[in-house]
Amino acid sequence: MKVPFLDLKSHHAPLREEFDAAFRRVLDTGVFAGGPAVSQFEEAFAEFCNCEHAVGLGSGTEAVWLALLACGVGPGDEVITVPSTFMATAEAISYAGATPVFVDVDERTYTMNPEQLAGAVTKRTKAIVPVHLFGQMADMDAILKFAKEHRLIVIEDAAQAHGAEYKEHPAGSMGQVGCFSFYPGKNLGALGEAGAVVTNNTQLRDTMRTLRDHGQDRKYHHSMVGWNCRMDAIQAACLEIKLRHLEAGNELRRAHARRYSEGFTRTEEVIAPFEADYSRHVYHVYAIRVKQRDEVMHQLESKGVSCGVHYPVPVHLQKAYAELGYGSGDFPVAEQIAEEFISLPMYPELRNEQIDYVIDTVNAAVSTGVMV
Ligand SMILES: *Cc1c(COP(=O)(O)O)cnc(C)c1O
Repeated sequence: MKVPFLDLKSHHAPLREEFDAAFRRVLDTGVFAGGPAVSQFEEAFAEFCNCEHAVGLGSGTEAVWLALLACGVGPGDEVITVPSTFMATAEAISYAGATPVFVDVDERTYTMNPEQLAGAVTKRTKAIVPVHLFGQMADMDAILKFAKEHRLIVIEDAAQAHGAEYKEHPAGSMGQVGCFSFYPGKNLGALGEAGAVVTNNTQLRDTMRTLRDHGQDRKYHHSMVGWNCRMDAIQAACLEIKLRHLEAGNELRRAHARRYSEGFTRTEEVIAPFEADYSRHVYHVYAIRVKQRDEVMHQLESKGVSCGVHYPVPVHLQKAYAELGYGSGDFPVAEQIAEEFISLPMYPELRNEQIDYVIDTVNAAVSTGVMV
């Protein structure tokens, strides 16, 4: 049996006619960068996140970057985040002119360990960027409490967590700003690149709107130095359609995750994802942990099961950040999980036979031959 890692073709097939109509609508308006399609999506997405405002952008990386800039983060500032994330989180901090400072993640949720914050905070610390990795929110109460005590800004990197919840608060709604990516493979993905920020703060919303459009308040009148981070109108129109199907997709992901996890309960060699009590996990990624990861992956690939690794090298050990001076052993949890993670196929269209086949293949791989 072949089980692809992702299957965007079948995800989009039933929406084709709606997309065609959306393309025509945008063509008819003649407005392609920003405009009514973008405002309409912003309104719908803000509501989905239970926030007052959303600002559509060109990518999730821009979302984190503009959020930091709008909150006044800049040169000389330190921003605490985690090494178990996609590079973009730290890159955005660097591009704001600040320095990323890492803290280790929790062994079970793989998100920011709030107990590590006290050891990382300095007089220069300005903000904390927790990452809701794989679709599960970080322990926001503890992080927000620490931030309040130290007067720090909290910006959520919710790029993997559309629809996730922390004690019924939607991802993106708990910090000053929530940042989303609509990269095609995300739970809510565009047919190209897109991103957004959400906030309840009108002033931050206005600043991010101005920043995304070359710092202009009105055409050719620039009150600050910004950049071009506008959202593409065709993407906004398609995202609005896909947003209507996001909850159904997330529910299917959760059901698939339950089936996977039941399949691994009796296999000691496999550590399945942990869903915290506070959490509604939306399984952007379903990652298991195994020893001898590369051999297990090789077995899976040879049996037709495509897998991924998110992420093989923690950010503090990336060559690009050598100058920060971190080394092996600095964040033992992040380093260990990077060696053990395998992301299994996970998308709403996954069929039960496919899940069962993946379970059997994983269980066979860890309990026979390959393990020495
Ligand atoms: C995808 C992702 C981003 C970046 O989003 P892009 O739209 O690809 O720029 C940032 N942070 C995390 C955690 C992500 O997974």
